[in-house]
Amino acid sequence: MKKLILLLSIVCLAACNSLDNFPKLEHSAKLSFRDAYENDTISFQLKNPLMCPISVRLVKDATYPDLATLFGHVTLRKQQDTIIKIHYPDVESTVKPKYSIEYGDLQRKINKSSIGLPFPKGKQYKIIQGFNNSFSHNKITSKYAIDFDLSIGDTIVSVDDGYVVGLIDKYKDHGTSQQWRDNDRSNYLTVYHPDSGLYSQYVHLNYEGAIVELGDYVEKGQPIAISGMTGFTTVEHLHFNVRIPSATNGLISTEYTFDNAVDASTLKKGDVVRNQNE
Ligand SMILES: [Zn+2]
Repeated sequence: MKKLILLLSIVCLAACNSLDNFPKLEHSAKLSFRDAYENDTISFQLKNPLMCPISVRLVKDATYPDLATLFGHVTLRKQQDTIIKIHYPDVESTVKPKYSIEYGDLQRKINKSSIGLPFPKGKQYKIIQGFNNSFSHNKITSKYAIDFDLSIGDTIVSVDDGYVVGLIDKYKDHGTSQQWRDNDRSNYLTVYHPDSGLYSQYVHLNYEGAIVELGDYVEKGQPIAISGMTGFTTVEHLHFNVRIPSATNGLISTEYTFDNAVDASTLKKGDVVRNQNE
């Protein structure tokens, strides 16, 4: 039995490594980026449908390397529409610029305050894996994630007030093969918290397990999703992570404290955590 538990743990630990690319913006919303050419000028029409800031750059093109430099780093506020015009006489109108898009505004100050637990008050769950685990939860994007042992069908709640800015719940299956490792198909939800600037993430949700929609405003403690077992894992659990924007790695994992002075960094595998919020 012990061996089985160990094996399951290792599989789960490995699973979490594959979540580096979350959230995938292109799965979250139809971002509108159009470019048009008029005489010697290119117009970039940028539209952010999300309720959080995003930052946009051009992917460097070998033919026109300075176009990305001229474009620079454009931050769009929530739901902002804008047009950037660049005078660039030598570009051909057949060139299709590629955009690199990340969540967040790097200029925004992060105001950390304690957050709620991601499950309802009165409920308690065991930690499967905490911060800085040597097997996984050890990368810049995952090192402050926590795995709680929620079962399939359990309720997940928002840890703070905010807006749903990333949502995918179309996947049904889970697996452990290389194919799953390379192309994780976990259902997940990302919530942006405008007061703090934090992004919270809830991963491995059930098929059609989101009970909110993209763009919805959610309150702290409000049920937002049904836990599941989708993606690269064989263990029913909730992978919970809090992230902030970074200049080079998109959203990176950051430390946090739960309400009632529960320091998340002290939570270790096997600890039981109870939501004691009123
Ligand atoms: Zn995890």
